[in-house]
Amino acid sequence: MITSQTCTKCGIEKPINDYKKCKGYKFGFQRICRECCNAIKRSNYLKDPETYNKKSSLWQQQNRARANENARISRGKRKDEVNAYKRMWRAENKDKVKATRRKSYLSNPQKHNQRTVEWKKKNRAHSGAYHNAYCKVYYSQPDKKLSHSISVLMNRMLQKGKEGKSWRKYVDYSLDELKTHLENKFLPGMTWENYGEWHVDHIVPRVLLPCLSHTEENFSKCWALNNLQPLWKIDNLKKGARLAS
Ligand SMILES: [Zn+2]
Repeated sequence: MITSQTCTKCGIEKPINDYKKCKGYKFGFQRICRECCNAIKRSNYLKDPETYNKKSSLWQQQNRARANENARISRGKRKDEVNAYKRMWRAENKDKVKATRRKSYLSNPQKHNQRTVEWKKKNRAHSGAYHNAYCKVYYSQPDKKLSHSISVLMNRMLQKGKEGKSWRKYVDYSLDELKTHLENKFLPGMTWENYGEWHVDHIVPRVLLPCLSHTEENFSKCWALNNLQPLWKIDNLKKGARLAS
């Protein structure tokens, strides 16, 4: 089995896959490499496009089956090529892609939302299972879980949400400082492994510190370190019920 040969046109030795298959030849491959072959075709075309096209369409008429097959293969090949190019372009132009998608979304949000709903319906197993698996792993990390729950709470209480910023921008402590603070107040049995059985509790509860913006004093009071403590879930729920009544 021949693995490479020298092109009679460019004189370069190339792997056999760089040659077109052709039954008439000794090893079943043309002696001129694909690249040279395509270059010859291109230059013939450029010399006299009309004659080239006539010849080519005549050949196609006489060899319908092969022509169709070739066209099919070429389309398949180009598809990969085009898709690869598109992928590359998208990777290099993330901002443009984002802007275009955003524009497209805003031009008809209902249509896009409907499409998303339909996609999710069709791919329920995929999207649901994937998301669940992802969340399970992600939030098994106490850091992420703590950060996420603060993020959600803060977003909910502010009229405009966190406006796309991290909750850390609105407080004067870091995640590590918060963790240390909570650890210092752990009741017997509390660990980061069983975070979820205990909650982060606001000593002066959020309902007594109503605020709409992070610039308000109530917000600072609510989220100050000395207003936060770990509390067993059951006690936290009891506290909530007591306040509600
Ligand atoms: Zn060549």
